[in-house]
Formats: sequence, C-alpha cells, structure tokens
Amino acid sequence: MIKNIVALLLLVAFVQSARSHSGANHFQETQRSIYASIKFEDYPKGMQAIQKLDLDVTGVDKKNKIADVFVTTEQYKALKELNFRIIENKSSKALKAVDEKYKSPDEIEAILKEWEKENSDIAKLHIIGQSSEGRNIYAMKISDNVSLKEDGESAILFNSMHHAREVMSPEVTLDIIESLITNYKTDAKIKNYVDSNEIWVVPMINVDGNAKVWSGSSMWRKNTNYGHGVDINRNYPYLWGTCNGSSGWTWSSTYRGPTAGSEPESKALMNLVKTIRPVFNISYHSYSEIVIYPMGCSGSRTQTKEVVEKIGKEIGESIQYEAGTAWELLYSVDGSDIDWMYNAYQVIPYVIEVNSRSQGFQPNYDKWRDKTVQRNRAAWMKLLDRMSQSGVKGQLDATYPSPESYQIEVRTEAGEIFQNYRINPNGTFHIVLNEGKYTFTLKKGRSTVDSKVVSVESSLKNINF
Ligand SMILES: [Zn+2]
Repeated sequence: MIKNIVALLLLVAFVQSARSHSGANHFQETQRSIYASIKFEDYPKGMQAIQKLDLDVTGVDKKNKIADVFVTTEQYKALKELNFRIIENKSSKALKAVDEKYKSPDEIEAILKEWEKENSDIAKLHIIGQSSEGRNIYAMKISDNVSLKEDGESAILFNSMHHAREVMSPEVTLDIIESLITNYKTDAKIKNYVDSNEIWVVPMINVDGNAKVWSGSSMWRKNTNYGHGVDINRNYPYLWGTCNGSSGWTWSSTYRGPTAGSEPESKALMNLVKTIRPVFNISYHSYSEIVIYPMGCSGSRTQTKEVVEKIGKEIGESIQYEAGTAWELLYSVDGSDIDWMYNAYQVIPYVIEVNSRSQGFQPNYDKWRDKTVQRNRAAWMKLLDRMSQSGVKGQLDATYPSPESYQIEVRTEAGEIFQNYRINPNGTFHIVLNEGKYTFTLKKGRSTVDSKVVSVESSLKNINF
C-alpha cells in the first residue's frame, strides 16, 4: 500500500515536471537517448500508465505484454523509480544507422515519376500539397481512363509514413503500386482491381520528417514544422486533443500541433479525401503487427461497427495481425487520420502497423523488406476485393439538384437504423454492408423522397432512386 502511494506521488510529481517543461528548447528533445523495453503484468493498465508519462512509445508486443519506449535519462530514471519492469535497455548510440536501401523523399519522387512515365495509360501522379519545408507530397492514381474522374468507379486510398522513422511503411505502398502496374496486363484479378476502381496511393506524407531521418535523426517521428515538429497523426480535426490521446507539450513525440488541422501534411491528405471520397483507406505505420480501426478514444466505437470491425478482423486474419481499436490494443489516440476520415467522409479506414517488435522501425532491408511487403499483400487485396462485395452502390440522376443535401437512411430487417449515409456531391453512393435485408430511404432533411427494401448479397448491388 505504502509502496503504491509512493509510486503514485512520484508519478504525479513526474507528470507535473514533464508538463512544466512546456516550451522546452530543442535540447530537451535531442536528450532522448535510451531505448528501453518494459514488461507489464497487466497490459492495458500498464500502457495507460506509460501514456500518462508522455513518453515516446515506439511499438509493442501485445502478446508478451511488452512496450518499447525511447526516453531521456531523466525519464528513464523516473521509470525505474516508479518500479516499471525494464527488461532491456540500450543507448541510442548502439542503434544502427538506417539501412540505406530504404527510400528518401527524392528517391520516392524519382520512382513515382518513372512509373508514371512507363505506365501512363493507368498511372497518373498528382501533387496533393507541400510540406512546410516546401517538398511536394505525391499521390499516384491507378485506374483505367486514369485522367478522368469516372463516377461509376468508387475510390480506395492507401497512404503511408505519417511518422518519419517508419521507413518500411512506404515500401508497402510502393509495392501496392508496383504490383498493380506490373501485373495489369497479365493478371485478370489485378486488371479487374484497376479497371473497376480509382486506386489512390500516397507513399510518403511526412516528407520533411523523413529527410530529417536521413540526415542523422534516425528516431525522428514528427514533421519538422516550428523546429520542434508536430505529430501529423494527432493533428486531424475530429475530437482533436480531447481524450488524452495526444500531447500539448511541444517536445512530446505526440504533440498535436497549435490548432486542429494546422499542418500542411494533414491538410494535403484531408483535401485528397474530400475530393476522392474513398470507400476504404489503409494508413500504414510500423511497428507492432496490429490492425487498428476507429474510434481512438477509450470506450468509443463507430456507429457502423458491425461492418467496420468485421472487415478489420478479416484483414487482420489475412496477415495474422491482431485487430482492434487503438484503445484496446495500445492506448487512447485523438486527432488521428482514421477517426477524422470516418467522421467527416464515412470512409471505412484502417491503420496497419507492419513489422514485429523484434524487427523494429528499421529492420535490415535485404532480410525483411520483401517478406514484409509480400505478407501484407493479402490485406490490401482483401479490401480491393471488398470494393465489389456486399453493399449497395448507385448515383442519383440529374433530377436531384445538389445531391449532397440528400441522405440514405439504412435500416436493418429488425428496423434499427444502421447508418445515415450522406450522398456525395456528384450524386454517387457506395454503402458497405454485411449480407442481409435492409430498407433504404432516400431523404432530404427530414422528408422522405423514396424508399426500397433490398436483399444485400455477397456481391455489390446497384440500386437506383
Ligand atoms: Zn506511426
């Protein structure tokens, strides 16, 4: 009991001292020098305690209840005083330099331009924004009639590297592009993915942060804005800074930024999502071998969880990764891209954390790159398959002015509201559902325009109003 009280007092004192460092200088940040592994008795509770300390959590091995943290000597001392069980530690000096075979922003730019040139019939490169240091952020669109926006084709988005040090993550998205363009003419399944969908891939969102990784800061996570940087994946506007899932301390690794959606990188992705209205998204990170679905704040789930979580678990099973919400698998997260995408544009979004704890952020390229991207193919292919599976799709005809003022109320056979789906500005809708009988009611405000009962089966059904 006394030991617990002492530990609690130490924790409070430590959190206060960490908070009093708000506005600390760059020296504070570069002091992080110890990479430590902590073993917990009780996994979720231990993770919550770690999060309260505002440490840089690099990844976990949930099965063995171990979390890795990157800390200052001061933080390390506090962890020991608080009786956390540290099973391994090494100085950052002992960390290997990043394997040079991983790709820099310039190398990715060159690869994308080359692929566009060689495959101009199905690949088109777009600049979706610029970082605070002025680097371009690229998106590759892969589709037939790639220069056109085809209303009949739904969009799907894959993105990677919100976090600068997670150098394997763009390898996975580059592999998506490469698999599609190289097999398009020979593989009927791939051809069908490309011809039936508008596939968008953003391989490197955090271009500035990654450039910093290549100039010696191999453990850099945030962008580089304002000198101290912002965690782009805590900066999105939905429930920004609301559930202790981010930090207001500028030198924290999860600093959420000065205002919601302040960062050029989050703005770029938000603009893209607003324009293309994807049905699904995967945001690739590393490491932990988990699949995360919304919502991020403790206890919170999506309204359409029967679909969101079922597909998330199927994706997880396809690559043998555990699936759950962030607060089930790690800790609460606020201001993330997936929560924002779900809330703002009804996207069904996932995070996949590739690589295990033993492989870490920057595993040996020759040993792990191919294995990792090959293993992950089953997951993105599963989502591409799901684009043409159970659900309904259609487009309001020209007799409906301003289609975005209409919604489709989806009720289950038991009469419960499953979703109030908002129609896209071009009149299209694509509602992903489990199999079953549903009532679809087209509404403008509160007034019913039309209603129909449809049996949703294993493949996507076209319906018209
Ligand atoms: Zn990450």
